[in-house]
Amino acid sequence: MSFLLPKTRNEILNLGIMGGTFDPIHMGHLVTAEVARQQFKLDHVIFIPAGIPPHKDIKTINNAEHRYLMTLLAVVDNPYFTVSRLEIDNNQPSYTIDTVRRFYEIYNGKLNLYFITGADAILDITTWKDYKELLNTCCFIAASRPGYSLSKLKDVLGPLSPEITKKIKLLEIPAMAISSTFIRRRVAEGKTIKYLTPESVEQYIYKNRLYV
Ligand code: ATP
Ligand code: MG
Repeated sequence: MSFLLPKTRNEILNLGIMGGTFDPIHMGHLVTAEVARQQFKLDHVIFIPAGIPPHKDIKTINNAEHRYLMTLLAVVDNPYFTVSRLEIDNNQPSYTIDTVRRFYEIYNGKLNLYFITGADAILDITTWKDYKELLNTCCFIAASRPGYSLSKLKDVLGPLSPEITKKIKLLEIPAMAISSTFIRRRVAEGKTIKYLTPESVEQYIYKNRLYV
């Protein structure tokens, strides 16, 4: 499927998955993934750019190849990070449950999967396809994100069983009020995006005249 995926040597892998549109990837994504990797002792984190994101307006999103390449550029210097084309090579809307099922197949179930999300995404969890099955099959790492309060999570999850709610792990990360929307807006306005995203991604954006 993807030659970039970590190989197993028959042991159980602790794998973090970070899904997103990554239009573009930025330091908020990277810091979140790195802090989660260390705190939850993950063997690898796989970034999965969404092909057709079910929650976003496809007309306003950049070409999947640009998003994939920027994500790849952003992770080259981290030996624990990789990128999967699974969702962008699939011409269907990308649902997390389908991706999670596919990962269990690829690794013959020898996997502990941790889906890493920001606070905004986890607060929407009850709108995700088959979310109860999702919570049964993998853990969620819910990272703090400025502007979103994880204290609302209890209300959102409502009366789900404690076994399910305990599979959502909260992760406090250094405040990063960065979003892809903020970066796109700054590029359109001719403002600097230095240090908001890796330099290689910044150069890629200018070279390909994205977001102008
Ligand atoms: P956009 O502004 O286009 O929505 P975004 O910055 O929210 O972009 P996404 O690709 O939508 O980025 O997000 C992918 C995942 O990364 C989501 O789970 C989101 O909550 C999380 N995330 C994004 N930015 C941050 C951040 N600054 N801190 C923590 N988590 C983040
Ligand atoms: Mg977002």
